[in-house]
Amino acid sequence: MGKSGYLPDISYNFGFYRTLAVNSLQRRDYASARSSLFNLNGCLGEEYLVSINSERYGQLSKDQSVYLCNNCTMSFEKIVNKGEENEYTKEIQIPTEILTSDLKVYNLRLPFIESILLKSQSEKVWTCPECREVNKMKNTRKVIPERESPYYLKVIPECPVRGTGLDRKFPTKFEGWFWNFLEEINWQEVLYRKEYKNQNDGEDMEVYRDKGDKP
Ligand SMILES: [Zn+2]
Repeated sequence: MGKSGYLPDISYNFGFYRTLAVNSLQRRDYASARSSLFNLNGCLGEEYLVSINSERYGQLSKDQSVYLCNNCTMSFEKIVNKGEENEYTKEIQIPTEILTSDLKVYNLRLPFIESILLKSQSEKVWTCPECREVNKMKNTRKVIPERESPYYLKVIPECPVRGTGLDRKFPTKFEGWFWNFLEEINWQEVLYRKEYKNQNDGEDMEVYRDKGDKP
């Protein structure tokens, strides 16, 4: 163990549990894969630990895409000549953006003539909360804002639970959860390693496989 306040070298335990986790997944031993990931996460210590909280994960990873209303506008501060000497902001009007996660798309019954023309009884619509007008889905533009990459949340949802009987979807659900968790842990390890090196005058942790042998 190192001095108090200093990060311990976790490379051996980390390498061990990571290998065990991936091997367990390949063997389809989901219980072992799950507990190996928990042990792996535990190696990171309090400060770098990835927390497990479905509710918080849901909030953080919430869909940020928006629908544009065809019936009303909102003002937007546009930066003109960005980064140049004559940079200025100009207020412009753009279609109102509504978070898709805040909206409910529903079926609206079509008038008789239209239903014959469109060969359908109803059509998908949403009501704009700003102007209260109804927008047709087929005329709606969806905008997905770019996310920063790499994008890590330091939180993952709870492990999927196997349903009763033959749950055919479980392996896929579990694997999605597994790789998501492992990626989050790997990113925290990168940060951990950085801080470890800072504390040890640039000396990295030992390499798991060639113990003691520095490249
Ligand atoms: Zn509107």
